[in-house]
Amino acid sequence: MRLAAPAPTGGDIGGVAACGTFRFFSPAAFILIHAGVRSRGSPVTRTSGAPMKAACAVFASHPLKASFLTTFSELGLAPGLLAAIRAEGYETPTAIQAAAIPAVLAGRDLLGVAQTGTGKTAAFALPILHSLAQGGRRPAGRRACRALVLSPTRELAQQIAASFRTYGARSGVSVAVFVGGVKYGPQMRAVAGGVDVLVATPGRLIDHLGQGALRLDETEVFVLDEADQMLDLGFLEPIRKIVHKLPARRQNLFFSATMPDSIAALAREILEDPAEVRVAAQSTTVERVDQRVIHIEADRKRDLLLDLLSPRAVSRAMVFTRTKRGADRLAKFLSAAGLDVAAIHGDKSQGQRERALGAFRAGQAKALIATDIAARGIDVEAVSHVFNYELPNVPEAYVHRIGRTARAGAAGTAITLCDRAEIGLLRDIEKLTRLSIPAEDMRADRSAPARPPAGENKGKKKTRRRRGAPARDAARAAVASPSQPQPGGAGRRNDRKRGAPGGREWRPTL
Ligand code: AMP
Repeated sequence: MRLAAPAPTGGDIGGVAACGTFRFFSPAAFILIHAGVRSRGSPVTRTSGAPMKAACAVFASHPLKASFLTTFSELGLAPGLLAAIRAEGYETPTAIQAAAIPAVLAGRDLLGVAQTGTGKTAAFALPILHSLAQGGRRPAGRRACRALVLSPTRELAQQIAASFRTYGARSGVSVAVFVGGVKYGPQMRAVAGGVDVLVATPGRLIDHLGQGALRLDETEVFVLDEADQMLDLGFLEPIRKIVHKLPARRQNLFFSATMPDSIAALAREILEDPAEVRVAAQSTTVERVDQRVIHIEADRKRDLLLDLLSPRAVSRAMVFTRTKRGADRLAKFLSAAGLDVAAIHGDKSQGQRERALGAFRAGQAKALIATDIAARGIDVEAVSHVFNYELPNVPEAYVHRIGRTARAGAAGTAITLCDRAEIGLLRDIEKLTRLSIPAEDMRADRSAPARPPAGENKGKKKTRRRRGAPARDAARAAVASPSQPQPGGAGRRNDRKRGAPGGREWRPTL
């Protein structure tokens, strides 16, 4: 996939001496600040406990616009890498690449606040590959790796490894992947003689460390990707354990889509005097995604979804459910209705996950039914639509889900099916994204408001924000507004064929 990175706009704004490394050409896009990130001393890596110096921070207001260095060659990358970049068809560095590559090449630690889709993999892969090739390629020692990249999911790990292999094709670097769900033997053999780049998920990496199949004492660069998802998945302690095995002298690159306090604290533990690069505002919804909400009863969602998935304009869709069982049930229903779909979630074997993703990428499956495991990181070209069959419990997940479409400058549509019990979750999303998402009311019973009056919602807010609250909310909502039998009522398969809940003529606006 290629991002449409526009040409730089010109006009040096100066005032960048504090950073030294960077040249700025786009005053509208970049603001230089001193973030003043301070270390409290890391229980893991620091021995001195000395405060970090003020961090050098670069904020880019838009991830794809604003490339302030004209070409990749101006970044000083090795000829082999430049050739690989040309072969990929990249013309100019994206904002995060232009800001991060010089800092990483200069040996700085890096704090990158950026989502996938911004070109962040190349932002760390290219300078790492460059540095590994410096001074003639020094081979890694037995069972050691020179660069370690931690990824929260197996799919993202494979994707990152593929990027290293692509960009490093002319540099002769070796790349290995450690992920769960597959045999240990081939992974052990891949690092037995040492490897340049190891991309791993935390659990499997710790298994290998425990078995003595891997040493981290020669690792020069450590990358923590998608740190916020790592913490969501409960990887904080495994990460600390891994970091503890790394040599004190190393370069750290830390990426996260969002920067809540818990992530900032982890960044302080790991990073030393980092350059800071932010691409787009925290939790900003992808601007190009055309977003809509359809209010609908829970038990009529699947028929509506089948309608919505059927038109040709829906060429490649991702459908998000809240639970693994829900994903399986929905996939079964859609398959029985004649749609080619695949499902991916954490209970599937690695083989099943790879096959599902492969079928979706190849266009053999029109829709991929997924839990939030696939909401981040996965880079599939030309996803035309994202459907939120159920709203996520955590509002940030909405931003990640809809970010699967409208990638690489393309357009995309995100449609959220919202039942009454989920209205609080919708409110939370609108609050986070500071958007009022255009809504259609498709409920059979439209006598009750789709959105409860503000007062009613206020009273429930605290409950909704607690984990596990939606089920309780559902029960409350059902009590507050018992469903009434309607003409053409909920759950009747034929409604769909007649095309109009409650007899209304309706065609999905795709
Ligand atoms: P990432 O944010 O790393 O997931 O990258 C998103 C997509 O952008 C990938 O498909 C990359 O191949 C692509 N990409 C990365 N850098 C560039 C660039 N400078 N120009 C065009 N496309 C890029």
